[in-house]
Amino acid sequence: MTDLSQKMYQELGIDNRVYVYCKHIEQGLRERFDSIEDVAECNQLKVLTAMQRHQVSDVHFAATTGYGYNDLGRETLESVYASVFHTEAALVRPQLISGTHALTIALSGNLRPGDEILSPVGKPYDTLEEVIGIRETKGSLKEYGITYRQVELLEDGQIDYDGVKAAIGPQTKLVTIQRSKGYDTRPTLSVKQIGEIIAFVKTIKQDVICMVDNCYGEFVDTIEPTEVGADMAVGSLIKNPGGGLAPIGGYIVGTETCIEHAANRLTAPGLGKEVGATLGLNQAFFQGLFMAPQVVAGALKGAIFAATVFDTLGFSVLPDAHEPRHDIIQAIELGSPESVIAFCQGIQAAAAVDSYVVPEPWAMPGYDSEVIMAAGAFVQGSSIELSADAPIKPPYTVFFQGGLSWHHAKFGVMKALQKMLDTGCVTLSSAPEYSKS
Ligand SMILES: *Cc1c(COP(=O)(O)O)cnc(C)c1O
Repeated sequence: MTDLSQKMYQELGIDNRVYVYCKHIEQGLRERFDSIEDVAECNQLKVLTAMQRHQVSDVHFAATTGYGYNDLGRETLESVYASVFHTEAALVRPQLISGTHALTIALSGNLRPGDEILSPVGKPYDTLEEVIGIRETKGSLKEYGITYRQVELLEDGQIDYDGVKAAIGPQTKLVTIQRSKGYDTRPTLSVKQIGEIIAFVKTIKQDVICMVDNCYGEFVDTIEPTEVGADMAVGSLIKNPGGGLAPIGGYIVGTETCIEHAANRLTAPGLGKEVGATLGLNQAFFQGLFMAPQVVAGALKGAIFAATVFDTLGFSVLPDAHEPRHDIIQAIELGSPESVIAFCQGIQAAAAVDSYVVPEPWAMPGYDSEVIMAAGAFVQGSSIELSADAPIKPPYTVFFQGGLSWHHAKFGVMKALQKMLDTGCVTLSSAPEYSKS
């Protein structure tokens, strides 16, 4: 780094101690960052190949309205997604308003009364509890006679294969596997592990549908779950694959049959994929997908940088500073409410949008403690953008993710550290002490 950047950081409120500390950390991460760039390079070529193969052209960026019949851009975008994920078909729509909605459509489209869902990886993401009916809610799958079963992970985080075998029965129609730990404390699954679970399930019951909740995992690896046997993968366009440019949307990729079922549920039986105007959003979807490998690489570098900075300061971090990454989320156990608040206020102060706002803990509906959220985003709720949130309860863990560029993610971490230093939550020795890998 040059004197110029040091001066600019100073003007942004980063003092010399934080600057030097973080510079030292960054220098130690060169090799890790190189391997992240290698993955991004493969994924960039993968996306580019799909776009060239399907002859993406500026005619595909034209807006359609009304029913949206013959929306060439939408159809081409779906073909590109199918190529990127190596599937027969895809549903990529602004009418899928979030990841939770896309998962709801994938599930409800492919299940019928009497069917059972099985999760071999423990409890699913919070919002899915109401979708499935684990927490009683009007309109849940449970109300439609669809049952649910889960097999907890073993104590060491591994899959309980005996338990899974015992849980598969005549009613088991769909196995749902969540790739990312989300805001849980279990490890995130690698694509290879997901492949092993699917292979195991299919040896017991060949025709079961294996669905992967792919949120936060896209482009972290060079292969996706649909390349290791998943019949369906589902995610949000305001996370990884939207590249920060998609203003809304979700995707479902998978077999022709699974996608047809999902499409008939999203629109109407008989209408399926044939309708759904894109209102001028196709360009953002194409361009976001094109940018996504690089954006995900930046977010990953930010997560590793955060893990290393806070690990060397003595905090416990998950994943740790050394292990391989399978999603973009970084959990940091900060140990006190003051630290959590300072961290989140630092992240907010680093934003390009709403940097002057000071986040405070509040009693958010659906949570059993107060929650603090830092999110200065171009797209509301976008978590591929620099963001952090934490429930105000022991062990005071903050979840950090995103950053549209590595330099922004880095600045966010520096600003969070600065706020913690300014409020006396942490002290800095002159040089970082590395923990043993
Ligand atoms: C974010 C997320 C979801 C839900 O996505 P929304 O877009 O917030 O509705 C589901 N599963 C996992 C693992 C997620 O990270």
